[in-house]
Amino acid sequence: MSEHEKFAQWDAAYVLGALEPADRRLFEEHLENCERCQGAVSELSALPGLLSRAHDPEEVTALVPQPPADLFEKTARRAVSARRRRGTRLVLLAAAAVAVILGIGLPFLLRPAAPGPVLALQQVAEQSLSADVGFESVAWGTRLNIDCDYPAGYEFGDANGPWSYALLVTDTKGSTMQVATWKAVPGKKITLQAATSLPVDQIAEVTVKTLAGLTVLQSPMDKNLLDQ
Ligand SMILES: [Zn+2]
Repeated sequence: MSEHEKFAQWDAAYVLGALEPADRRLFEEHLENCERCQGAVSELSALPGLLSRAHDPEEVTALVPQPPADLFEKTARRAVSARRRRGTRLVLLAAAAVAVILGIGLPFLLRPAAPGPVLALQQVAEQSLSADVGFESVAWGTRLNIDCDYPAGYEFGDANGPWSYALLVTDTKGSTMQVATWKAVPGKKITLQAATSLPVDQIAEVTVKTLAGLTVLQSPMDKNLLDQ
């Protein structure tokens, strides 16, 4: 059995926080050198952000107008196939993830705020959107936890529907990459997650643009935050 085959089923459990600490360390060591697992974890890492909204099923529905059903089915399927190895706890967690998406509140899944520095992005354009980005260092790079506030009473869209936005990170060498896109949900606070292979100390700037190209929010990384 190759090293990857040994760990291939662990990605969903890792993202859901269901691995025991010793297993988690083993998986993170493997992740550092396995692009396939890094890709799987990036793909699945939107899930805990959704789960953290479990106290407000209406908000989950607003956030996911068309749930990416295959993602959650895949999570559940992988978890089930890993059952022999990982025990029933994981199956329950995967089932809970699906239940949350169906709008069933599961407060026991509430997670504490993600660790790491949080940057409040500065407004550049005349839009009432505000956003905070949290940076969480992980073995494969940096997980970005984005809180967006679309206050009631503003449109955030036009005749074609809600505007779409993109989050971009610029590294210390000046390269910019897009790490997330989403649609406005007027009158709501939404939480989403993005991922980059950049270590947090190589992120120089964070930008939110509309997909039409208007820069809305932008902040340089606050180096003081990294030292805390
Ligand atoms: Zn792997």
